[in-house]
Amino acid sequence: MQEIKDPILEQNGVRFFVKRDDLTHPEVSGNKWRKLKYNLLKAKEEGYSTLLTFGGAYSNHIHAFAAAGKLYGMKTIGVIRGEEHLPLNKTLSFATSQGMELTYLDRTSFRDYKAAIPKLREQFGDFYMAPMGGSNQLALEGVAELGEEINSFDQKVDYVCAACGTGGTLAGLINSIDTTTEIIGFPALKGGEFLYDDINEFLSSSENINTNWSLNTSYHFGGYAKKKPELLAFMENFKEKHNIELERIYTGKMMYGVIDLIKKGFFKRDSVIVALHSGGLQINR
Ligand SMILES: *Cc1c(COP(=O)(O)O)cnc(C)c1O
Repeated sequence: MQEIKDPILEQNGVRFFVKRDDLTHPEVSGNKWRKLKYNLLKAKEEGYSTLLTFGGAYSNHIHAFAAAGKLYGMKTIGVIRGEEHLPLNKTLSFATSQGMELTYLDRTSFRDYKAAIPKLREQFGDFYMAPMGGSNQLALEGVAELGEEINSFDQKVDYVCAACGTGGTLAGLINSIDTTTEIIGFPALKGGEFLYDDINEFLSSSENINTNWSLNTSYHFGGYAKKKPELLAFMENFKEKHNIELERIYTGKMMYGVIDLIKKGFFKRDSVIVALHSGGLQINR
């Protein structure tokens, strides 16, 4: 937990901490490590030697999955959205350097990627499959450990803020964070309201969840991976002031949103806010 010091925090009567999950591991960073942990253990326990997953060509999930597979001595296959482009971009060339085998699925078929599984089994034999983005019930269990770490922080936490892609990470937090803490998710995609349904679906088999959660859909900056000068300037300034690197897809937007809400007096006075740095910095390289 890194405390952020800034006059705007004092002016608005709040304390602000960043949970540095970006520091977990240099290649399997942030929430991807949390989400993979119990999937890897299950795959090993069930005797699989090959892991397969799906993702975009710049995906943090593909990057982390390849690195984790190598660390755990398992073969990995990445099914990438779209056509092959050579030379490979940095994310995919890193993935192959970790021993990942790449295969491609055109954009139309990718929308219904689960339909491609029988064919993939014919091609690659038996494998343990982790879904797109790595979000499943086992992922929630790994994220719950992150929630427990936040619960045991020596300050009482009033708000936890996190970026959302598939919503798996937020669901894991909702599943584990104390019910006296409010949880706010910041969708990276435009039209992120659809995540209410997806998150409720992830939580459908959970009991005693924290109902004190919501999504703030105002900070998508035009949609996934759009480069907005205002966002890039914010990230640069944040890094200069606090020595924390952000990226433009998830954590930059979320952090921009949290700071903006602090300035607007959204958070109760005398409260403690925690923002999750979910990693993903490979995209900056
Ligand atoms: C994948 C990712 C997310 C989104 O996580 P979900 O569980 O899919 O919502 C957030 N931040 C970073 C840095 C990520 O790589």
